[in-house]
Amino acid sequence: MLAASFMGEQKIALVDKEIPAIKSDEVLIKVAYTGLCGSDKRLFYLGTPVVPGHEISGTVIQIGVDVNTDIHKGTRVIVYIPLYCNSCNECRLGNYNRCENISGLIGWQVPGGYEEFMAVPAGNVIPIDDDISLDEAVLLLDTIGTPGHGIRMCIKAIGDNVAERALVIGCGPLGLGSLLVLKGMGIKEIYAYDPNVNRLHLALDFGARAYDAERSPEMHIVIEASGQEVARQMALHAVHAGGAVLLLGESSTPWTIVPSPEIRRKDCFYIRSFYFPLKEVKENVSLFKDNRTEFNKLISEVGSLKEIERMHIDFCEGKTIKPLVKLSVD
Ligand SMILES: [Zn+2]
Ligand SMILES: [Zn+2]
Repeated sequence: MLAASFMGEQKIALVDKEIPAIKSDEVLIKVAYTGLCGSDKRLFYLGTPVVPGHEISGTVIQIGVDVNTDIHKGTRVIVYIPLYCNSCNECRLGNYNRCENISGLIGWQVPGGYEEFMAVPAGNVIPIDDDISLDEAVLLLDTIGTPGHGIRMCIKAIGDNVAERALVIGCGPLGLGSLLVLKGMGIKEIYAYDPNVNRLHLALDFGARAYDAERSPEMHIVIEASGQEVARQMALHAVHAGGAVLLLGESSTPWTIVPSPEIRRKDCFYIRSFYFPLKEVKENVSLFKDNRTEFNKLISEVGSLKEIERMHIDFCEGKTIKPLVKLSVD
């Protein structure tokens, strides 16, 4: 089978690899689509010995002998990336994204979806409804699942304070996904900020208002979805007392909180969330189905594995939102 090898310095080679043999608790997936993610950028620049790609959909084609769930050959699935133990306290509560013995992430420590076939623990595949196609299904992961979980944590944190105003900083796939999730959750006034005018316009098309740090009111929920230091500072400034800042954006730069008088006197929450628990999938599917047309606008391009290097270059330059690599078609 073909797999992508991230060599570093923005080079991706296609290599031949054996189709993986599955263990007794695993299934073999024929990968359909894998979405590009902002967190792939580091791997694109620095290289990695593991096949990346962690926003994956596909079809189950082989099942391990010890798998006794309702997964069968032909089940269409998306892939849940944390390799969880299923026995610690957090796993028992269904918080697999908080597993105390997490042994890695698919697409990071073990091979991901930029290859044609992959072996996945049966507990890491999520069957999808018949009326969801394999391309749009990818959106249920980082684009809806990740912000959905973080925003639920914000709403829980701020409690009795009504969350009626929210700001999204950074209008890439995560930011625009956040915006649509906020909308789906009934947040009335949503503001957006991005120095990239094209991306900001997408947010405005989805009904957001342009944020102005001087003039806009303070926000009950602020989502930092860029990973940029300047955006993180903007988020701390924008939050209203009693509100919550959700730090979702990824980068290697430290999160810095400068204890200025303004920041010291804020009575608010700073929240970092990671991925999502499986128990939220049903609700995320509803969010998607309620606003499918707008969510699907985030899929900006579908290309083949041969185009993967060029697709990453365009993505890093901010030219695309959620490009999908198409690995196979049925
Ligand atoms: Zn991602
Ligand atoms: Zn666990």
